[in-house]
Amino acid sequence: VSAELAELVRSHVRDVPDFPSEGVLFRDITPLIADGPAFDALITALADAYRGRIDAVAGLESRGFILAAPLAARLGIGMVMVRKAGRLPGPVLGVDYSLEYGTARLEVRAETVQDGSRVLILDDVLATGGTAAAAITLIEQAGGHVPGLAVLLELEALAGRRKLEGYEVQSVLTY
Ligand code: AMP
Repeated sequence: VSAELAELVRSHVRDVPDFPSEGVLFRDITPLIADGPAFDALITALADAYRGRIDAVAGLESRGFILAAPLAARLGIGMVMVRKAGRLPGPVLGVDYSLEYGTARLEVRAETVQDGSRVLILDDVLATGGTAAAAITLIEQAGGHVPGLAVLLELEALAGRRKLEGYEVQSVLTY
C-alpha cells in the first residue's frame, strides 16, 4: 500500500469519541465513502493489489459490503455476503463468536462459495479480530480457501492480528 493511499484514507476518516458507547473511539469511514475520487482511488488500489490473486471477495456486514461490492465488480469476480444472524434466507452455515459483552453470529450461504476458491475477507476495521476470525471459519466451512484478510484500518492496540495467525493481514492504515 502506498503512503499516498494511506494518507488519503487517513484524511477521510473521522474520529468520533464515545461512540457508540463511552470509551470507544469510533473510526468513521463515511467521509471516505462520500468522496467520489477518494473512494475510486481506494477501490483501484485494492483491485491492483489483489487482481489475479483471488477468485471472490467476502464482505462483512455492513461496512465490509460497501468495500467488497465495488472491488468484486472492478475485478469481475463474485462477492460473498457474510451477514449477521437471521438476515440470509436458508440454508445457511453459521458461526458463533464472543464479543466483549455477549456473543454474535455470522452466517453465509455455502452455495455462494465455490469449492477451493480463493476468497479474500474484507472489512473496514480490524479491532479484536473476533469478527474476522469467525468469517474465516465460515468461509472455510463453506469450502473456500482464505488467502488473507484486508481492512482499511487496523487498531493495533487490540491485537486482532494475533487471532489471525497463518493468514496474510493487509491494512491500509494502522492506528
Ligand atoms: P472486532 O471483531 O473486535 O475485530 O471488531 C470488528 C468489527 O467491529 C468491524 O466490523 C468494525 O466495523 C467494528 N469496529 C470495531 N471497533 C471499531 C472502531 N473503533 N471504529 C469503527 N468500527 C469498529
